[in-house]
Formats: sequence, C-alpha cells, structure tokens
Amino acid sequence: MTRVYIVGAGPAGCWIARRLTELGHRVTLITGRGPRLVRERFDECLVYYGLGPGGSARYSMGNLGFWGPKRLERRFQRAITDLSTPIERPPDDVLTDHDLRLERAARDLGLKAERAPKAIDFNRCTGCGRCLECPHRAKWDPTRELPDDVEVIEDHCLELRTASGRVTELILERRRLRLDEDDAVVLSAGCPGTPDLLRRSGIETDAPLFADLYVHVVSNLRTPPGLQMPVIVHEDEYMLSPHRTSRHPDRYALMVKIRDELTGSVAERRKPVTAADATRLAEGCALAGELLRELGAHVETVTRPAGAHPGGALAERLDREYGLEGFENLHVVDVNALNEALGRPTIGAILALAEDFTDRWPG
Ligand SMILES: Cc1cc2nc3c(=O)[nH]c(=O)nc-3n(C[C@H](O)[C@H](O)[C@H](O)COP(=O)(O)OP(=O)(O)OC[C@H]3O[C@@H](n4cnc5c(N)ncnc54)[C@H](O)[C@@H]3O)c2cc1C
Repeated sequence: MTRVYIVGAGPAGCWIARRLTELGHRVTLITGRGPRLVRERFDECLVYYGLGPGGSARYSMGNLGFWGPKRLERRFQRAITDLSTPIERPPDDVLTDHDLRLERAARDLGLKAERAPKAIDFNRCTGCGRCLECPHRAKWDPTRELPDDVEVIEDHCLELRTASGRVTELILERRRLRLDEDDAVVLSAGCPGTPDLLRRSGIETDAPLFADLYVHVVSNLRTPPGLQMPVIVHEDEYMLSPHRTSRHPDRYALMVKIRDELTGSVAERRKPVTAADATRLAEGCALAGELLRELGAHVETVTRPAGAHPGGALAERLDREYGLEGFENLHVVDVNALNEALGRPTIGAILALAEDFTDRWPG
C-alpha cells in the first residue's frame, strides 16, 4: 500500500492528511518547527507566516469563505460541510459600536458590506479581540481535522533526496525517512516553506510571489475590545475590514487589503510594491477615510505595506494533478498552487485545492 508523506501541517497539509486517510492510505505528516508566528522583511514589505502544527492558519482571524477560482467552488462547498467547526457569521454582540456603525455607513453609501464568514464557535467567542491566539478555543485550527491514525512527526524537513525523477528520501533534523517504490510526497509547507525546501534540495524554484498586501488606516477613535475583521467591505481590487494593528493597539483602524501583482523573489526575500499595487492601496485608503468620516472620525496615520498571505510561487510548474514538473512522486498542494492573488482570505481556496487534489489522487 502507498504511504504518503505530507510536509506541512497548515490547512492544505491537514486536509489532505484527513482525506487520504479516509480513502484508506497510510499518511505521515511532518509539521515543521513551532508554533511560531514569523515576521520577516521582504525588502520593502513585511511578510508574516506561521510555522508548526496549524501553520499560518493557527494565527488566522478565523475568516473562512470562498474567494478562489470559480472551478474550485464546489470542492470548497463539499469541504466545509465536513469541517469540524461550522462556518458562521458573527452576531451583533461580538461587534463594537464602531463596527455596527461602519457596517451601516458602508451600506448607506451603496457599498457591498458583509459579515465575514468565520470558522469560529460563537458560543465560545467572547469578542475579546485576541483572535490571533484565541484564548477560548473558539477558533478553528487545521490540526482539529487530523484523524488519530495519521502518523505525526514534529520535525523540520531539511532536504529531499531525489534520483531519476523520484523523491527517495526525506532528511529531517532528527531522522531520515527512506521511501519505498510506491510512496509519494506532498509538499504543503506554505510560502516561503515549500520553495525554500525545494531550493535546499537543489531544485531551482526562484519565483515571484503575491502577499495580499495590506495597510492599516488608523483613526483617532479609541477602540474597545471586539472580534477582529467582523465585517468585510468588498471592492473589485481590494477589501476593507476593521482590524487592530499592534503598532496602534488602542485605535480603531481599517485594514485595506489588495489583490497585488506577483512580483519579486521568494529566494531573495524581495516583494516590491508596483505602481498598480500602490494605486489600489491609495484607492482603498481613500474609501477607508470616507467611511471613517461617516463615523465622525479622522485618519491619524497609515501603516507601511505588509502581507500575511504570501503565495503563488509554484503554480506555473504544476500539472493538473499538482505534480511538480520533472518528478513522478512529488506534488505541491498549498498556497503556492494559486496562480494569482485573491486579495481576500485564502484558507477557503486552499481547502478547495486540497479537496481537488485528493479527488484526483489515483490510489
Ligand atoms: C496572522 C495571519 C492571519 C491570517 N488570517 C487569515 C484568515 O482569517 N483567513 C484566511 O483565509 N487566511 C488567513 N491568513 C492566511 C492563511 O493562514 C494562509 O494563507 C494559509 O494558512 C496557507 O496555508 P498553507 O497550507 O499553504 O500553509 P501554512 O498554513 O503556511 O502551513 C505551512 C506548514 O508547513 C510547515 N513547514 C514549513 N516548512 C517546513 C519544513 N521545511 N519542514 C516541515 N514543515 C514545514 C509549517 O510548520 C506549517 O505547518 C492569515 C495569515 C496570517 C499569517
């Protein structure tokens, strides 16, 4: 019987581990070191990602909707019917008065505003605002999806050894795993984890990335505690959402997140802001300023561009079964398999990719 080695325990890795186990395969999941939220400078932008069990999603705001490619929407719908935490929209009592007024103001201006779909148990959520590391266990974590019979190894994969277009061995920090003839490897180590691992293994993968760049438009209003990102205002190329920034934690702020271009280099840790990105950010900031004025507030400052959804680095190199070009038993299924920025929460699209991959799995 095939054994599938999955490197990475974010939404992609955990969902694939669950589905392949349900299909009767033997699965080994390598989680990486952590848990840890990494903040890394990619030249002019700060990039955030999570390491360890749960991956970046461990630090999510709980947003879980579908804003991915149309072809994957049915896969997403199927995945969430089986998700261990139901998707719900936040009730009024976890929103602040500012949020409720913002939602009304956006609708009065004819904007498309919705309560964000969340994988959060609102019977447990108190609206304390500490969503990053929810102290009430209300927020979904991908490791909740892991069946007991998945072998979990809490170690970091340093290198893949390959021969004749096949992965033959995984070199971890504390041990080596030798693959049998029929075994396969799925890389779900996220961005920059997957391209970094391929590069360390001598597989050239220098590639541009998206990051769903964002800034915070910080107002003069003091903010009381409340759920982070309870409401999303959608425009084509960007979205706005109330979100506290650690730089100004006592201020009411709107996050402006854009669909940025694929630019720079994962290998060189560069993520330049293009002229088109700057225009989108400026348009979003102007709208945020208008909404804050409707609340009787004004803008005090705007933070520098950052990104918490890095990805898109390998889509061009994958076939329909997510096989990496030049290899028989090596697949990439994670945020790198998306070929463009969504400018929206990514986990829904990543679950859909994982569901699509396991649908196509030949074993
Ligand atoms: C602060 C923050 C908030 C966010 N909020 C939201 C939100 O509310 N909604 C949303 O949809 N998206 C959100 N995102 C984005 C989302 O979490 C990520 O896009 C998504 O988790 C990526 O999934 P993934 O499975 O591709 O990789 P990841 O979740 O990044 O997981 C990568 C996994 O690979 C492991 N790994 C890496 N390198 C190695 C190695 N060499 N060996 C072994 N293991 C390795 C890591 O330890 C980790 O387990 C947020 C991101 C951040 C950082």
